[in-house]
Amino acid sequence: MEYTKHQYIGGKWVAGKGTKRQIINPANESLIVEVQEASREQTEEAVKAARQAFETSSWPAEVQRRVNSLHQLADLLEIKAEQFAAAETTNTGKPIRESRLDIHDTVTCLRYYADLASSRKPWEKEMHDGTTSKVMEEPIGVCALIVPWNFPLLLGIWKIAPALIAGNTVVFKPSEITPVSALMLTELIDQCDFPAGVFNLVLGTGQPVGETLVSHPDVDKVSFTGGSETGRKVNEQCARSFKRVSLELGGKSPLIVLEDADIEAAVEWSVFGAFFNQGQVCVASSRVLVHQSIYHRFLDRLLIKLQQVKLGDPRDEETEMGPVISAVHQAKIEKYIELGKEEGAVLLHGGERQGETGYYLTPAVFTEVSQHMRILQEEIFGPVVTIQAFTSDNEAIELANGTVYGLAAGVLSQDTERAERIASRLKAGTIWINSYHTPYVEAPWGGYKQSGIGRELGPQGLSGFTEVKHVNVSNELQPVGWYR
Ligand code: NAD
Repeated sequence: MEYTKHQYIGGKWVAGKGTKRQIINPANESLIVEVQEASREQTEEAVKAARQAFETSSWPAEVQRRVNSLHQLADLLEIKAEQFAAAETTNTGKPIRESRLDIHDTVTCLRYYADLASSRKPWEKEMHDGTTSKVMEEPIGVCALIVPWNFPLLLGIWKIAPALIAGNTVVFKPSEITPVSALMLTELIDQCDFPAGVFNLVLGTGQPVGETLVSHPDVDKVSFTGGSETGRKVNEQCARSFKRVSLELGGKSPLIVLEDADIEAAVEWSVFGAFFNQGQVCVASSRVLVHQSIYHRFLDRLLIKLQQVKLGDPRDEETEMGPVISAVHQAKIEKYIELGKEEGAVLLHGGERQGETGYYLTPAVFTEVSQHMRILQEEIFGPVVTIQAFTSDNEAIELANGTVYGLAAGVLSQDTERAERIASRLKAGTIWINSYHTPYVEAPWGGYKQSGIGRELGPQGLSGFTEVKHVNVSNELQPVGWYR
């Protein structure tokens, strides 16, 4: 990479004045690029640029221009899809096939919101007293968009696309570990027809950059994706000024395998659910619940399947699992694996480092777990799954709902009516029946309980970036007639 300036403020590339950081390829520990992050003052300048663009440019009022700009960005991204996929793999370690999916979904999301905005009309109705009520959605103002490292570009676009199409201006902050695709995206935005200041990029950590954004009086809305502990801090800070906030947080999602499920398919979905992106997915099915009557057969097949999973260089087309994101994260996952053993769970498979360089961990499977164990209650965010047995639907539901999280769940069964009855009792924002993981851009995504507040994607994702205004019109000015 050849970037020498790493912030984009008011339509110009600006050299950072904050911390210098080396961005590392987790597959081989080599240096990708050294960036210089934003200082607190530069973060404030980015907010100021966004505020000025919101107040003075025609952006908030021109729907068609916004629609065109988003399609223009989608076109450019489509042309460069392979470069983006390669960059995402280099920065995150995710297998190249996964990165391609991310880029494809990114383009789809931009186009979806562009099309949705073109078809949105204000609601209007003649009321019982002869007046007319009109309800319109307006942009909120300046939005701070903060994302984690596991899907750097895709999660960014899940916020950038609806925020911009609604007419807001934004300051985007990717994770400090994965800024590469954000820099590349900004380069494309620079070539599109966005007025200066509508989109701003700042690099940096939670302190000072993230906190400056969240606490800034000129930021009207914070859209945050990340861990629940960070989300709590963000929420508390926003509450002080009643700042609009949406939070996409952690999970500990259950996948329920009923006794009538095809074992081979169930094993494959379980591996996919738990170990896609090395288990570093907010909705990862990190708890698999299997009906007692098929439990042992399921485990036998699972162990065979895991021996076959190809762990290795994420650039290789054949690779099915890459490294985890960093040395620090690898050590955190290993601590959880040790903790699981100390808690009395049985490590049936994996959890070992692989190779001389790169942060590889083999997929870990724990059995003999009980509901109170920390490895079952806390989000590990790595390739670690727990397997529990249940004997009735009621027990499966109780175990599935038995954590503070409520992001997603899955049910595998031949009997979809039974699976839907179970789904209706699960406390989770997304439930897949006989599949797992796919986000659909038209449908909402978000969490019950401590997995978050608000929803992304779908029309709900757009509503998260609007204020609603009701205007009631009486065509003639008459006396009130109330005072005698
Ligand atoms: P994190 O909470 O450490 O960081 C997330 C982002 O917040 C980063 O950009 C970070 O720099 C920033 N940040 C940190 N402290 C901040 C502060 N005080 N104020 C403002 N910003 C701050 O999370 P992470 O380790 O990068 O990502 C993993 C977490 O993200 C997991 O818990 C995962 O479940 C969650 N996640 C949720 C979803 C979802 O859709 N619900 C999707 C992906 C990841």
